[in-house]
Amino acid sequence: MSVLMTDIQADIPVPFSGDQLDHGDNIRDPEQLQALLQKTSARAVLFYQGRIGIGAGGRPHRVHPSDLIGHDLMAPGPLFLGMEGERPIFAFSITKPEEFMPEQNFVSLRGIGGNMRPSDLALAGRAKSLFAWHFTDKHCVACGTKTVSRDGGTKQLCTGCGAESFPRVNPVAIMLVTDGDRVLLGRGVGWPEGAMSALAGFVSPGESVEEAAQREVMEEAGIKTKNPRYIFSQPWPFPAQLMMGLMLEAVNTDITVDPKELEDARWFTREEVLAVFEKRGEAFMRLPRQTIAHQLMRQWLNETA
Ligand SMILES: [Zn+2]
Repeated sequence: MSVLMTDIQADIPVPFSGDQLDHGDNIRDPEQLQALLQKTSARAVLFYQGRIGIGAGGRPHRVHPSDLIGHDLMAPGPLFLGMEGERPIFAFSITKPEEFMPEQNFVSLRGIGGNMRPSDLALAGRAKSLFAWHFTDKHCVACGTKTVSRDGGTKQLCTGCGAESFPRVNPVAIMLVTDGDRVLLGRGVGWPEGAMSALAGFVSPGESVEEAAQREVMEEAGIKTKNPRYIFSQPWPFPAQLMMGLMLEAVNTDITVDPKELEDARWFTREEVLAVFEKRGEAFMRLPRQTIAHQLMRQWLNETA
C-alpha cells in the first residue's frame, strides 16, 4: 500500500494549535497593558465580523495600536494576545474595514486556514474565539448585570456582584469508526452533495469523551463500537470548540442513519479514501486540510499503510 506524506509531524502542529506567543498572564493589569499598547514594537491584527485582515504575503495585516485611535471599535477593545519575543501582539475588531484595507481582504478562517502559517492560524483562531465570547456573553451568569472585559480580554468582571467569568471552550468528540480496512463517514443535514466527514458530537455533562464518541456513533449511525482510542485534539474557533479526535472499532456494520442528524452515512474502503487524498478518486469531497477530520483520516491512512 502506498504511504502519504503525513501532516501530523512533531514540527507541524494540528491546524489552529501551535500558538507561539507567550500569553503574558502576569502582565495584564491596566497599567501594564497601557504601557504595552504604547511600545513602539507593539502590533495589532485586525478583525471584521469574525474575519481576519490579510496583508502582504498572505499573513495577517499588522498595524501599530495607535493607528486605531479615532476609529470605531467593537467591544471589548484591544485583546492582548501575548508577547512575540519582546513585541506585544494585540487584536482589534473594527467596524469600518475600508478605513484600513479593502473589505475583501478580510477573510474567513474557514476559507483561508489551510494556507496560513500554523502560528498565524493559531493566533487568529484564538482571537476569533475570544471576540465571539465577548460578543455573545455580555451579562453576568450569576446576576445578569453587564460585565466588563479585564486582563486584556481573557476575563470578564461583573459590574454588579463582582463575579468573574472566563471564556468557555466546548468539547466535541469527532470519531473515525473503522471496520477492518473500511471507515465510516457521514454527511450532515444540508451539507453539499458529495461532502462526507467523520461523525462528531458535543460531549454531554457527566460523560467521558470516549463515552460521548460511542453514544454519538450509536445515535447517528446505529453502529456499536469498541476500543475508543484518543488520537489528538484541535481548537476549532467556530466559535470555540475543542475537537477531540478518536478512533473506534465497529462491532456491527449495518448502518441505521438518524435522519435528524445525518443525510447519509456509508463505509468507504481505504483505497477509496486514499484515492480522494491523492486526488485521483472522487468517492467523496476532499475535506480541507485544516479540519481535524482530514487529519484523522490522514492519520488512519498512515497507520494502516
Ligand atoms: Zn453579577
